[in-house]
Amino acid sequence: MEIKELYERYLRYPSVQTDTRKIKQGDIYFALSGPNFDGNTFAAEALQKGAAYAVIDNAAFAVGDKCIVVDNTLQTLQQLAKYHRQQMDIPFIAITGSNGKTTTKELLAVVLSRKYITYATEGNLNNHIGVPLTILKIKKDAQMAIIEMGANHQKEIASYCEIALPDYGVITNCGKAHIEGFGGIEGVRKGKGELYDFIRETGGTIFLNTDLEYLEPMADGISEQITYGSHPAGYTGRPVMNGVFLNVEVDTDDEPVTLTTHLVGEYNFPNVLLAVAAGEHFGVSLQEIQAALAAYNPDNSRSQWLKKGNNQVILDAYNANPTSMKAAMENFAKADLPGKMLWIGGMREMGTEEQHEHAELVALIDKYEWAGVILVGKEFATVKSAHMWFENSTDAAAYVAQHPPVNSSILIKGSRGSKMEVMAAALPE
Ligand code: ATP
Ligand code: MG
Repeated sequence: MEIKELYERYLRYPSVQTDTRKIKQGDIYFALSGPNFDGNTFAAEALQKGAAYAVIDNAAFAVGDKCIVVDNTLQTLQQLAKYHRQQMDIPFIAITGSNGKTTTKELLAVVLSRKYITYATEGNLNNHIGVPLTILKIKKDAQMAIIEMGANHQKEIASYCEIALPDYGVITNCGKAHIEGFGGIEGVRKGKGELYDFIRETGGTIFLNTDLEYLEPMADGISEQITYGSHPAGYTGRPVMNGVFLNVEVDTDDEPVTLTTHLVGEYNFPNVLLAVAAGEHFGVSLQEIQAALAAYNPDNSRSQWLKKGNNQVILDAYNANPTSMKAAMENFAKADLPGKMLWIGGMREMGTEEQHEHAELVALIDKYEWAGVILVGKEFATVKSAHMWFENSTDAAAYVAQHPPVNSSILIKGSRGSKMEVMAAALPE
């Protein structure tokens, strides 16, 4: 079936679903396949549950007249998303980078929503399936689209740009994340730089953080650059900590204006400033931006502040890599808080750098004085030095439930896979 014909059906049934457990009446089911499952095998179930159509790529599973057989379901999903994108004449803003994509996306979305009907990636749906699904969720009333793009190898961001066709690009940073798949830090810059490459070729615009000097050469040749940073830039601001919370002072034509947030950690400063820069660029008033940022509360264990009994916790158990670990730890070391403890889980996807990076992390921990340190995960097994160590967070949580700290401040951080949130849950209320 031609994409155009499929698109007409999508316009009649504009809700795409890839999970038969979530099928609702009138959805179009796309049968995707992974290493452990074959979506084609669920086509009949999807139709039985009320799907308008099932798009499959194995004709053997076709039942009735509602199955659309294509060569490759994933490619068809991506082509359909691109076709849908091409019908929309609104700004598409793509966000990539090693850290802070989701936070930046959420901040930008709350700011732009003050003035525009804004569609943004839900949660963290930022991959080869999430990007097209995000685009296919955008309805006719949309005035702004924000697309998060994640990647752990080369050519990935380029391929997402080919689907989302962004007019605006943001790279939050290029750090030590997914170094395994990218091939070193230079590889990370090249991979993330594919967004700039697309923008350069298509004559789009970037929002450029001038505090990250390495971004400037990457942006070479892009004619439309909107700059932001802590040194004089298009939009200039500086972080001002209010206890653990970040406030941002932004320069205006008059007096500087202070924006309050409920974000923990100075490392969120560029994320906030980008939202300010883009908001102002698109004509959202500073008062509206201020209100939007003040009302935003992060969730999902990303830079979350929690009160647990007489202890306070900064829970950052959503992900971790050497760059974000360093940022979080330095920020925590600086904060004026009682009884500071670290509960640190292993960092995943480090490849051959695993041992080295965890040894470096322990060295960084040892640069400061802490009221207590607990290391969690096999990654630390050979480099833990004299620190308390548990092989997994379940065992560590059992220990802290038995021996809870008192009047302490605890930074909990680790990769998603280290499941460090269970340690926060183990603290008495
Ligand atoms: P993912 O790759 O999982 O999608 P992400 O890029 O969307 O991650 P977020 O979920 O926004 O990133 O933030 C994850 C963590 O990254 C934060 O909790 C914080 O520790 C760190 N972080 C956020 N912003 C920055 C930044 N600008 N620079 C460095 N580290 C940051
Ligand atoms: Mg994310």
